[in-house]
Parts: sequence; structure tokens; C-alpha cells
Amino acid sequence: MGEAKRRTNRQKRIVVGTCSGCTLCCFIPAIEDLQKPPFSPCQHICDVGCVIHDAEERPEVCGGFRCRYIQAHERGIDERHILPHPLEAGAYAFEPLDSGLMVLCVDPARPYAWKKTGLVPFLAAFVEAGFALNIVDRGYNFPLRTLDHLGEIVARDYVQGARLMGKPSNIPGYAGTVREV
Ligand code: SF4
Ligand code: SF4
Repeated sequence: MGEAKRRTNRQKRIVVGTCSGCTLCCFIPAIEDLQKPPFSPCQHICDVGCVIHDAEERPEVCGGFRCRYIQAHERGIDERHILPHPLEAGAYAFEPLDSGLMVLCVDPARPYAWKKTGLVPFLAAFVEAGFALNIVDRGYNFPLRTLDHLGEIVARDYVQGARLMGKPSNIPGYAGTVREV
């Protein structure tokens, strides 16, 4: 299937303010309660999201999680006008509780899509306000604190650069899986 058709299909199924079948946060992070390694699909993913969504066995950490896009829509805050849906951006941002940190998790199947979206000014505003930012991309965790560094990361394939320099993945448990889209 061509990229244009895939994009059209993604757009068709996106309902503003909902997960709309996105499962990025069920794929990228490690989830200890499920013994799920990072960059690996949770065993409970189904076509519409989570097969155990309403079941008791669904871990608390899943029920309590909201990416920044979903939070912005639930709270009705202005960010909702600039943040793209994670299915659209191939990435989601979230703020670990009381961390003073913003984390961007990038879909390894579409690692460049977020760079052309409202996520860039959104992240830049956080860095400008003094927040630290971590970018989690294809097995690497890149911490950064300056707008210049963010600009470099947007301009270049920094994962490819790290690989060319022989830097190993710095995310424990990363097995190199690329998600089907
Ligand atoms: S990343 Fe956001 S939109 Fe996607 S499944 Fe998680 S909470 Fe929902
Ligand atoms: S249990 Fe459900 S919500 Fe939690 S990671 Fe798995 S699919 Fe996602």
C-alpha cells in the first residue's frame, strides 16, 4: 500500500480527542506489570485498541495513562489546537508525573513524521520554559535541554548518526522491533 493511501486510511479512522485505535503507547514503552519490553507490542493489542480495556486484569498503569494529546482534549486546553493526533504524527508526548520532564516517544516505523507537525513548536515551548526533554526513538533515549539541540535533532536523522558512530542502543531491553503500520 502506498504512503498516500496509508495516510488517507489513518485520517479516516481518527476521531478528534480519542485514541481512535492508536496503540503507540502499548508498543513503545516497557510495561513492567505486563513484562513487556520496550518497542514490542503488548499481547493485548487488538484492532480497536485494547482487548482487555474494561477487564480487571488491565494494569493500573494503562488505565491511568494519557498522552499529552488526549490530556489536552480532555481538559479542553489550547494545546489541543496545535498537537497532532499520535496516529498522524507517528509520535506522542507525555509528562511523567512530577518529573519536570517532557518525553517524546517516536514510532520506529515513521520516525520523521513528527518533525513536520505542531509537536515541534510544542516541544520548543517546553524547552524554552526550562523543561528537560527526552526523545525516545528507535532504541535510543536522547536527553536535551536547549533549543539548538532540538533544532539539530529536527534537522537530522540523529539515530542514524548514533549508529554510524557505533553508539549502542541505550534503552535496556530494546530488541530492534519495527512496528507494522
Ligand atoms: S499514545 Fe495517546 S492516543 Fe495513542 S493510544 Fe496512547 S493515549 Fe491513546
Ligand atoms: S493492556 Fe491494553 S492498554 Fe495496556 S499496554 Fe496492553 S493493549 Fe495497551
